[in-house]
Amino acid sequence: MLNDSLKQLSQRLENKEISSVELTKEFLSRINKLNSQLNAFITVDEERSLEQARVADQKITAGTATPLTGIPVAQKDIFCTEGWLTTCGSKMLSNFVSPYDAGVIERFKAVGAVNIGKTNMDEFAMGSSNETSFYGPVKNPWDSHAVPGGSSGGSACAVAARMAPVATGTDTGGSIRQPAALCGISGIKPTYGTVSRYGMIAFASSLDQGGPMAKSAEDLALMLNVMVGFDARDSTSLQCEAEDYARDLETPLSGLRIGLPKEYFAEGMNGDVERAVDKALEEYRKLGAETIEVSLPNSPLSIPVYYVLAPAEASSNLSRFDGVRYGYRAESYRNLEEMYRKTRAEGFGAEVKRRILIGTYVLSHGYYDAYYLQAQKVRRLIAQDFKQAFTQCDVIMGPTAPTVAFDIGEKSSDPVQMYLSDIYTSAASLAGLPGMSIPVGFGEKSRPVGLHIIGNYFSESLMLNVAHQYQQATDWHQKMPNL
Ligand code: GLN
Repeated sequence: MLNDSLKQLSQRLENKEISSVELTKEFLSRINKLNSQLNAFITVDEERSLEQARVADQKITAGTATPLTGIPVAQKDIFCTEGWLTTCGSKMLSNFVSPYDAGVIERFKAVGAVNIGKTNMDEFAMGSSNETSFYGPVKNPWDSHAVPGGSSGGSACAVAARMAPVATGTDTGGSIRQPAALCGISGIKPTYGTVSRYGMIAFASSLDQGGPMAKSAEDLALMLNVMVGFDARDSTSLQCEAEDYARDLETPLSGLRIGLPKEYFAEGMNGDVERAVDKALEEYRKLGAETIEVSLPNSPLSIPVYYVLAPAEASSNLSRFDGVRYGYRAESYRNLEEMYRKTRAEGFGAEVKRRILIGTYVLSHGYYDAYYLQAQKVRRLIAQDFKQAFTQCDVIMGPTAPTVAFDIGEKSSDPVQMYLSDIYTSAASLAGLPGMSIPVGFGEKSRPVGLHIIGNYFSESLMLNVAHQYQQATDWHQKMPNL
């Protein structure tokens, strides 16, 4: 049952083969068994989860169940969750019990999904390895020496280790896709503006986007059906028609045009990753797709642009953590000014401080034009590259990350090396485009490799179709680590 799809689990619930309470207990016991070694969850609250399961069971009995009713969902600890500790991976929020639910959490509650726990993450979602978490690093379930990726590393680990059937993540420059790739699962960052950011603790608001992480594209589609929708409390939420993201899953791929950006297949990608990606592309050709070369000439600038804009927005967003309103406050101080200083010095970790320093610098009077404004202009050029590429192809493919999961500690002392983990994912974030990662094999040290699929705006159902057809023809997505 641990390897069941959402459809199969939902069927079992509907047939009364198992109740939601029993299913929830099953995953809670898996969490109990594995969490001390993997550290995927920051908070588990058995009583609250079982209470939600009991409500779900009533819904099922009453015949008002929908596909996610009674299903355990692991929630990234960036989503404010009423009555639950919500830390965002930071000491700054280590005592923060949220008084309200994020828009995403409300939507899961409304369909009767069960919150199975809050997952570990890089502090304020800043990182690519989960090593910046105040709660300690998460281990990659395929190899405990390796990182799970970040910042949604706890969610990726939870799904890969089958501690939860599905999870939520957020992606600012790659944080759903890169950990999905490194843990051998599927994940999608939808078009910017489709999933509510209300109550999703802000890192870089013009880039942050929530999305699902799961074993398969089919499960992602069912998750998106719950997560996507207009929210008036998020000023960048888009008002679009509700759609069924599973509607196109079965469409054959004959005639699909896959664009391969020549910049992504140049230097930078490791040989083992390249081999797995090439094999996946060959499978796509067998499925009837054609591959054509496209160009994203400004993509080499996406990391520098991202690391100007994301810290700039973060430095503004994180100014609210001052020890006055909520969260951590320094214990001793002589006056207000010192209270602010000590609270922020003690409450934030090193990476968060580095981003705040960079952000305030690039926004400062003397440097705004040289850095921030310039980065905004290049951001537009990056979006235009994609616009041009999508006149030639339907989806773009490449590797999700340049390497398989690296060792814990390997890059933590070299921020620039760490930033380069997102070399393939950050451009789609800057353009606001949807991007996903699916597992396509194993590389060095038998660690998973992910294939990156970028689609045009609002083309999630096509992307899920493209991923699902591959997953019908192969079984990488069903492989699970030996735990
Ligand atoms: N790794 C990138 C960063 O550190 C992206 C993080 C994210 O998408 N939240 O900013």
